[in-house]
Amino acid sequence: MNLFEITRPSGVTAHVGIIGGSGLYEANIIENPVQVIVNTPYGQPSDYIVVGEIKGVKVAFLPRHGRGHRYPPHMVNYRANIWALKSLNVKWIISVSAVGSLREDYKPGDLVIPDQFIDMTKSRKYTFFDGPVTAHVSMADPFCAHLSDLLYESAVSLGYRVHQGGTYVCIEGPRFSTRAESRVWRDVFKADIIGMTLVPEVNLACEAQVCYATLATVTDYDVWAEHPVTAAEVAKVMAENTEKATKVIADVVPKLAGDPNPSRCSCCRALENALQ
Ligand SMILES: [Zn+2]
Repeated sequence: MNLFEITRPSGVTAHVGIIGGSGLYEANIIENPVQVIVNTPYGQPSDYIVVGEIKGVKVAFLPRHGRGHRYPPHMVNYRANIWALKSLNVKWIISVSAVGSLREDYKPGDLVIPDQFIDMTKSRKYTFFDGPVTAHVSMADPFCAHLSDLLYESAVSLGYRVHQGGTYVCIEGPRFSTRAESRVWRDVFKADIIGMTLVPEVNLACEAQVCYATLATVTDYDVWAEHPVTAAEVAKVMAENTEKATKVIADVVPKLAGDPNPSRCSCCRALENALQ
Protein backbone atom coordinates (compact mmCIF):
# COMPACT_ATOMS: atom_id res chain seq x y z
CA MET A 1 0.00 0.00 0.00
CA ASN A 2 1.35 3.40 -0.93
CA LEU A 3 -0.21 5.84 1.49
CA PHE A 4 0.77 8.81 -0.61
CA GLU A 5 -0.40 7.56 -3.97
CA ILE A 6 -2.78 10.35 -4.84
CA THR A 7 -3.39 12.41 -7.91
CA ARG A 8 -1.36 15.56 -8.21
CA PRO A 9 -3.22 18.72 -9.19
CA SER A 10 -2.88 19.12 -12.96
CA GLY A 11 0.34 17.12 -12.93
CA VAL A 12 2.13 19.90 -11.03
CA THR A 13 5.29 18.75 -9.27
CA ALA A 14 8.08 20.26 -7.24
CA HIS A 15 11.40 19.04 -5.91
CA VAL A 16 11.97 21.14 -2.78
CA GLY A 17 9.28 22.14 -0.32
CA ILE A 18 9.68 25.31 1.74
CA ILE A 19 7.50 25.87 4.80
CA GLY A 20 7.55 29.50 5.88
CA GLY A 21 7.14 30.41 9.53
CA SER A 22 6.07 33.59 11.29
CA GLY A 23 7.14 36.55 9.17
CA LEU A 24 7.76 34.47 6.03
CA TYR A 25 4.48 34.38 4.15
CA GLU A 26 5.73 34.89 0.60
CA ALA A 27 8.86 33.77 -1.18
CA ASN A 28 9.65 36.54 -3.62
CA ILE A 29 12.72 34.68 -4.82
CA ILE A 30 10.55 32.14 -6.67
CA GLU A 31 10.59 32.54 -10.44
CA ASN A 32 7.58 31.77 -12.66
CA PRO A 33 5.28 31.32 -9.66
CA VAL A 34 1.87 29.70 -9.98
CA GLN A 35 -0.65 29.24 -7.20
CA VAL A 36 -1.72 25.65 -6.63
CA ILE A 37 -4.62 24.58 -4.46
CA VAL A 38 -4.16 21.07 -3.09
CA ASN A 39 -6.85 19.05 -1.37
CA THR A 40 -5.81 16.22 0.91
CA PRO A 41 -7.57 13.42 2.78
CA TYR A 42 -6.92 15.50 5.89
CA GLY A 43 -8.51 18.67 4.58
CA GLN A 44 -6.98 21.86 3.30
CA PRO A 45 -3.38 22.88 3.89
CA SER A 46 -2.79 26.28 5.50
CA ASP A 47 -3.01 28.10 2.17
CA TYR A 48 -2.49 27.77 -1.54
CA ILE A 49 0.99 26.61 -2.48
CA VAL A 50 3.24 28.67 -4.71
CA VAL A 51 5.06 26.44 -7.18
CA GLY A 52 7.91 27.84 -9.26
CA GLU A 53 11.67 27.71 -9.56
CA ILE A 54 14.78 28.89 -7.79
CA LYS A 55 17.76 28.79 -10.16
CA GLY A 56 16.16 26.02 -12.18
CA VAL A 57 15.11 23.84 -9.23
CA LYS A 58 11.37 23.41 -8.83
CA VAL A 59 10.11 24.50 -5.43
CA ALA A 60 6.80 24.59 -3.58
CA PHE A 61 6.29 27.27 -0.94
CA LEU A 62 3.66 27.00 1.79
CA PRO A 63 3.27 29.47 4.68
CA ARG A 64 2.67 27.33 7.76
CA HIS A 65 0.22 29.72 9.39
CA GLY A 66 -1.47 30.79 6.17
CA ARG A 67 -1.14 34.24 4.69
CA GLY A 68 -2.22 36.78 7.27
CA HIS A 69 -1.26 34.30 10.00
CA ARG A 70 -4.75 32.81 10.19
CA TYR A 71 -3.82 29.57 11.95
CA PRO A 72 -2.15 29.68 15.37
CA PRO A 73 0.33 26.86 16.06
CA HIS A 74 -2.18 24.50 17.69
CA MET A 75 -4.64 24.93 14.80
CA VAL A 76 -2.25 24.36 11.88
CA ASN A 77 -3.30 21.34 9.83
CA TYR A 78 0.16 19.77 9.83
CA ARG A 79 -0.98 16.55 8.20
CA ALA A 80 -2.57 18.40 5.30
CA ASN A 81 0.53 20.58 4.89
CA ILE A 82 2.97 17.67 4.72
CA TRP A 83 0.62 15.55 2.62
CA ALA A 84 0.15 18.41 0.16
CA LEU A 85 3.91 18.87 -0.31
CA LYS A 86 4.43 15.11 -0.59
CA SER A 87 1.69 14.91 -3.19
CA LEU A 88 3.66 17.43 -5.26
CA ASN A 89 6.50 14.91 -5.09
CA VAL A 90 8.93 17.00 -3.04
CA LYS A 91 12.04 15.15 -1.87
CA TRP A 92 13.28 17.82 0.52
CA ILE A 93 11.56 20.19 2.94
CA ILE A 94 13.24 23.28 4.38
CA SER A 95 11.24 24.42 7.37
CA VAL A 96 11.69 27.96 8.67
CA SER A 97 10.71 28.66 12.27
CA ALA A 98 10.88 31.71 14.52
CA VAL A 99 12.02 30.65 17.99
CA GLY A 100 12.88 31.98 21.42
CA SER A 101 16.31 31.40 22.90
CA LEU A 102 16.98 29.49 26.11
CA ARG A 103 20.67 30.31 26.30
CA GLU A 104 22.66 33.50 26.43
CA ASP A 105 24.90 32.74 23.46
CA TYR A 106 22.01 32.03 21.08
CA LYS A 107 21.22 35.68 20.55
CA PRO A 108 18.28 37.39 18.89
CA GLY A 109 19.09 37.51 15.18
CA ASP A 110 21.10 34.26 15.28
CA LEU A 111 20.23 31.25 13.14
CA VAL A 112 20.07 27.74 14.62
CA ILE A 113 19.99 24.38 12.85
CA PRO A 114 18.49 22.12 15.55
CA ASP A 115 19.40 18.44 15.72
CA GLN A 116 17.03 17.27 18.47
CA PHE A 117 13.62 18.13 19.86
CA ILE A 118 11.58 17.61 23.01
CA ASP A 119 7.84 17.39 22.46
CA MET A 120 5.73 19.19 25.06
CA THR A 121 2.68 19.60 22.82
CA LYS A 122 -0.56 18.15 24.11
CA SER A 123 -3.26 17.86 21.53
CA ARG A 124 -2.28 17.41 17.90
CA LYS A 125 -2.66 14.92 15.09
CA TYR A 126 0.74 13.26 15.20
CA THR A 127 0.64 10.58 12.53
CA PHE A 128 -0.62 9.54 9.11
CA PHE A 129 -0.94 6.01 10.47
CA ASP A 130 -4.08 5.88 12.56
CA GLY A 131 -4.69 2.27 11.61
CA PRO A 132 -5.28 -0.31 10.38
CA VAL A 133 -1.76 0.24 9.07
CA THR A 134 0.41 1.45 11.93
CA ALA A 135 3.97 2.70 11.93
CA HIS A 136 6.50 3.54 14.62
CA VAL A 137 9.15 5.62 12.90
CA SER A 138 12.50 6.23 14.56
CA MET A 139 12.96 9.75 15.93
CA ALA A 140 16.44 9.16 17.32
CA ASP A 141 17.82 11.62 14.78
CA PRO A 142 14.78 13.58 13.67
CA PHE A 143 16.39 15.94 11.15
CA CYS A 144 18.02 15.23 7.81
CA ALA A 145 21.74 15.40 8.54
CA HIS A 146 22.65 16.21 4.96
CA LEU A 147 20.15 19.04 4.56
CA SER A 148 21.08 20.40 8.00
CA ASP A 149 24.73 20.53 6.96
CA LEU A 150 23.85 22.40 3.78
CA LEU A 151 21.77 24.96 5.69
CA TYR A 152 24.59 25.52 8.16
CA GLU A 153 27.29 25.84 5.49
CA SER A 154 25.13 28.27 3.55
CA ALA A 155 24.49 30.48 6.58
CA VAL A 156 28.22 30.53 7.33
CA SER A 157 29.07 31.43 3.75
CA LEU A 158 26.61 34.33 3.91
CA GLY A 159 28.34 35.64 7.02
CA TYR A 160 25.49 35.05 9.46
CA ARG A 161 25.83 34.04 13.12
CA VAL A 162 24.60 30.45 13.05
CA HIS A 163 24.71 27.51 15.47
CA GLN A 164 24.85 23.93 14.23
CA GLY A 165 22.92 21.74 16.61
CA GLY A 166 20.56 22.48 19.41
CA THR A 167 17.51 21.05 21.09
CA TYR A 168 14.17 22.61 20.19
CA VAL A 169 11.50 22.26 22.87
CA CYS A 170 8.08 22.44 21.24
CA ILE A 171 5.29 23.73 23.49
CA GLU A 172 1.59 23.61 22.78
CA GLY A 173 0.91 27.34 22.80
CA PRO A 174 -0.61 29.61 21.84
CA ARG A 175 0.41 31.06 25.20
CA PHE A 176 4.08 31.52 26.03
CA SER A 177 5.83 29.75 28.93
CA THR A 178 5.68 30.78 32.55
CA ARG A 179 9.02 31.70 34.09
CA ALA A 180 8.98 28.39 35.99
CA GLU A 181 8.38 26.44 32.77
CA SER A 182 11.07 28.38 30.95
CA ARG A 183 13.57 27.53 33.69
CA VAL A 184 12.61 23.85 33.38
CA TRP A 185 13.18 23.87 29.61
CA ARG A 186 16.54 25.57 30.11
CA ASP A 187 17.96 24.17 33.35
CA VAL A 188 16.38 20.70 33.57
CA PHE A 189 15.72 19.74 29.94
CA LYS A 190 18.86 21.53 28.70
CA ALA A 191 16.93 22.70 25.64
CA ASP A 192 18.40 25.51 23.57
CA ILE A 193 15.48 27.05 21.67
CA ILE A 194 11.73 27.08 22.09
CA GLY A 195 8.86 27.23 19.63
CA MET A 196 5.35 25.93 18.97
CA THR A 197 5.35 24.41 15.50
CA LEU A 198 8.07 21.80 15.01
CA VAL A 199 5.95 18.89 16.24
CA PRO A 200 4.25 17.13 14.53
CA GLU A 201 5.59 18.68 11.31
CA VAL A 202 8.97 17.00 11.65
CA ASN A 203 7.69 13.50 12.40
CA LEU A 204 5.03 13.68 9.69
CA ALA A 205 7.76 14.56 7.19
CA CYS A 206 9.64 11.52 8.43
CA GLU A 207 6.59 9.31 7.90
CA ALA A 208 6.30 10.78 4.41
CA GLN A 209 9.96 9.85 3.85
CA VAL A 210 10.92 13.37 2.93
CA CYS A 211 14.27 14.85 3.97
CA TYR A 212 13.40 17.58 6.46
CA ALA A 213 15.52 20.14 8.27
CA THR A 214 14.73 23.31 10.18
CA LEU A 215 16.24 26.74 9.84
CA ALA A 216 15.33 28.34 13.17
CA THR A 217 15.63 32.09 13.56
CA VAL A 218 15.99 33.50 17.06
CA THR A 219 13.53 36.31 17.71
CA ASP A 220 14.17 36.99 21.40
CA TYR A 221 15.13 35.40 24.71
CA ASP A 222 12.45 33.34 26.40
CA VAL A 223 11.18 34.65 29.75
CA TRP A 224 13.93 33.00 31.85
CA ALA A 225 16.23 35.81 30.83
CA GLU A 226 14.08 38.72 31.99
CA HIS A 227 15.49 40.82 29.16
CA PRO A 228 12.78 43.37 28.56
CA VAL A 229 12.24 43.88 24.83
CA THR A 230 9.82 46.11 23.02
CA ALA A 231 7.47 44.95 20.29
CA ALA A 232 9.33 47.26 17.92
CA GLU A 233 12.64 45.53 18.69
CA VAL A 234 11.09 42.10 18.11
CA ALA A 235 9.55 43.26 14.84
CA LYS A 236 12.92 44.59 13.66
CA VAL A 237 14.70 41.32 14.47
CA MET A 238 11.95 39.29 12.79
CA ALA A 239 12.20 41.35 9.61
CA GLU A 240 15.97 40.89 9.53
CA ASN A 241 15.60 37.17 10.23
CA THR A 242 13.14 36.78 7.38
CA GLU A 243 15.65 38.34 5.02
CA LYS A 244 18.42 36.03 6.29
CA ALA A 245 16.23 32.93 5.93
CA THR A 246 15.27 33.93 2.39
CA LYS A 247 18.93 34.34 1.40
CA VAL A 248 19.87 30.97 2.91
CA ILE A 249 17.02 29.30 1.02
CA ALA A 250 18.07 30.95 -2.24
CA ASP A 251 21.60 29.66 -1.68
CA VAL A 252 20.70 26.11 -0.60
CA VAL A 253 17.95 25.17 -3.05
CA PRO A 254 20.26 24.92 -6.10
CA LYS A 255 22.36 22.44 -4.10
CA LEU A 256 19.31 20.17 -3.75
CA ALA A 257 18.85 19.57 -7.48
CA GLY A 258 19.56 15.88 -7.05
CA ASP A 259 17.59 13.33 -5.07
CA PRO A 260 18.54 12.55 -1.46
CA ASN A 261 21.45 10.15 -1.25
CA PRO A 262 20.66 7.23 1.10
CA SER A 263 24.31 7.13 2.10
CA ARG A 264 24.04 10.66 3.54
CA CYS A 265 20.89 10.21 5.63
CA SER A 266 18.21 7.69 6.48
CA CYS A 267 15.13 9.90 5.93
CA CYS A 268 13.96 8.18 2.77
CA ARG A 269 14.11 4.77 4.46
CA ALA A 270 12.09 5.82 7.51
CA LEU A 271 9.32 3.34 6.91
CA GLU A 272 11.46 0.31 6.14
CA ASN A 273 11.32 -1.08 9.67
CA ALA A 274 8.46 1.04 10.95
CA LEU A 275 5.36 -0.54 9.47
CA GLN A 276 3.62 -3.08 11.70
ZN1 LIG B 1 17.62 13.10 4.53
